[in-house]
Amino acid sequence: MNEKLIDDIKHLLQWYRLNYGETLSIPGELSFDLEDEETAPAIPVPQPAAVAREADRESLADPLKIHGDHPRLKSFYEEIRNCRNCDLSQSRKHFVFGMGNPQADIMFIGEAPGRDEDEQGFPFVGRAGKLLDKMLFALGLKREDIYIANVLKCRPPGNRDPLPDEVLQCEPYLQQQLAIIQPRVVVALGRIAAQVLLKSGDSLKILRESEHSYNGIPFIVTYHPAALLRNSGWKALAWHDLKKLKKHMAGEL
Ligand code: SF4
Repeated sequence: MNEKLIDDIKHLLQWYRLNYGETLSIPGELSFDLEDEETAPAIPVPQPAAVAREADRESLADPLKIHGDHPRLKSFYEEIRNCRNCDLSQSRKHFVFGMGNPQADIMFIGEAPGRDEDEQGFPFVGRAGKLLDKMLFALGLKREDIYIANVLKCRPPGNRDPLPDEVLQCEPYLQQQLAIIQPRVVVALGRIAAQVLLKSGDSLKILRESEHSYNGIPFIVTYHPAALLRNSGWKALAWHDLKKLKKHMAGEL
């Protein structure tokens, strides 16, 4: 048995144990249950949520995790961190540039900072962020392995959808981040990020089920973790999307 397969099985069993305890029961096709931390059973093993909390603390203690001391990313961050190109600059608490590994092969892109992100200045640090960490863990990844950013760098009041003018002003920043990081695969989290980047008005369902590339980069569309927290019925579909990402990472697509 090769090492990759052993790793896959190990992660799969860790996840199963985390969510279901010690009894193995597989009804039909196996899919990961990306449960909310509050409803997942407490099991005395190292948990992804704990890893996420630790990652959050480190991030807050070390703003270098925003740009990883990568010269071009750092200089771009310094250039735009005080941006006032749209009205969201009036209401934001923090500008949320992004965070992660500037040499990452995978870049996740969300819609805009939410309340927790606005409070802390880092993307995906609330409940949705913890679920994202679980999704990464299921793939054998950590935050440090990827880069993550949003289409908008400042929080829309009340978490409303971004306005066209806000996207127009802010999207070039994301384009520049993509040009600097040059990921091998891009994953759009949610309808807004997918529609903006693909310049499409299609539904999330259609976007998820279609093949895309973005400037020649394989582009996968899946649910925003916040949507998965609201509707657990979508988790199996999200896992289906993540399996596509896994295949891209393995060079099978
Ligand atoms: S949302 Fe983007 S364009 Fe608007 S102020 Fe923030 S960084 Fe600037």
